[in-house]
Amino acid sequence: MLVLVVNAGSSSLKSQLIETDTGVSSMKCLAEKVGAADGYMNVSYAPDFEKIKYDMPDVTVADCLAKLLEVLVEDETSPISSLEEIAVIGNRAVHGGEYFTESVLVDDDVLAKYDACSDLAPLHNPPGLACMRMVRERYPQIPQVAVFDTAFHATMPAKAYMYPIPMEYYEKYSIRRYGFHGTSHGYAARTAAELVGKPVEELGIITCHLGNGGSITAVDGGKSVDTTMGLTPLEGIMMGTRCGDIDPAIIPFLISKEGLSGAEVDTILNKKSGFLGVSGVSSDMRDVEEAAAAGNENAQLAIDMYIYRVQKAIGSYFAILPHTDVVVMTAGVGENSISAREQIFAGLEHMGMKLDKERNQVRGENTIISADDSPVTICLVAADEEACIASDAAAIASNL
Ligand code: AMP
Repeated sequence: MLVLVVNAGSSSLKSQLIETDTGVSSMKCLAEKVGAADGYMNVSYAPDFEKIKYDMPDVTVADCLAKLLEVLVEDETSPISSLEEIAVIGNRAVHGGEYFTESVLVDDDVLAKYDACSDLAPLHNPPGLACMRMVRERYPQIPQVAVFDTAFHATMPAKAYMYPIPMEYYEKYSIRRYGFHGTSHGYAARTAAELVGKPVEELGIITCHLGNGGSITAVDGGKSVDTTMGLTPLEGIMMGTRCGDIDPAIIPFLISKEGLSGAEVDTILNKKSGFLGVSGVSSDMRDVEEAAAAGNENAQLAIDMYIYRVQKAIGSYFAILPHTDVVVMTAGVGENSISAREQIFAGLEHMGMKLDKERNQVRGENTIISADDSPVTICLVAADEEACIASDAAAIASNL
């Protein structure tokens, strides 16, 4: 089934045309700096994936998707000549709040509920919503599926998702832990179960999605029982530009000492913290590793803090899972940083996690990297969010 996967960000649009029977992608699109005067969109087609650049000054993310749907039928090298060839659009949806526990076919009720969750993800929900609305208005014949980042975590028990603040704030505003990267955690857990050759229902798995954003999830019998991200993707482990867990009292302290507004502190914690804030070098792990190797002490401190915080999260989930059989590393850092994996597991042998240094010399593969005598199996899974979204969308569309 031919699926157009749409991933709308706050100032970007990523899209792919994926044939789910073969897993082959025949079109890739990336729009960046959307909303700015120098915004642009690159579209490329199989087999060469040579980029065709469209200038997109001062437009919205939904305008970019509208343009993509036009050029898809106009470009000579496009694999399709009519939008009717697209069986379904699979939309990445970020925050589904308490409404959505699984992927759904988009209708007006779904859009209204997704809109109601916009308060919880003000940067990410509105552009995705605008894309889905635009398609529904202009191309009502194309079915759309929404695949939520939060849905996989809908199985968390209340003791994991509630915050110890007055109950009225949960009742009034639904303030609770939701968790994110759900598509990735679910896929990582299922793929790891295949790698170890056991049904996911029998396994206790800790999935570590370590990318620019990062979260760690405890998966018991295939179900998320706890995860490090919370009401928003700011909580949890340290990230590229996000602080992760800090003492919440730091926020009023900064407001009072620096005369900042709440919104300004929010920007500091979301965009100027993490690797970037501590190292002063970059939000990108590769740059920070390079600076640390060249003797930059703050860069080394940032890496030490990151490793330590990831270890603490893994340890806390080892404590609450009835048994831990597998730990999975996925996403940019998890898949590619041999050195980060080595450092993370160097401290975890006492929990039965024994990395094999030779097997660990890999990047971006689905493979086992623990020693044969390691009581806990450590796996590497190459994240493939687009393929997961396409597969969910195809499963729902095949029942139409
Ligand atoms: P993601 O958000 O999943 O795309 O991950 C982005 C992060 O992965 C960035 O911090 C990159 O520096 C990091 N990353 C990608 N490749 C490597 C690599 N070879 N070594 C270390 N970090 C990497």
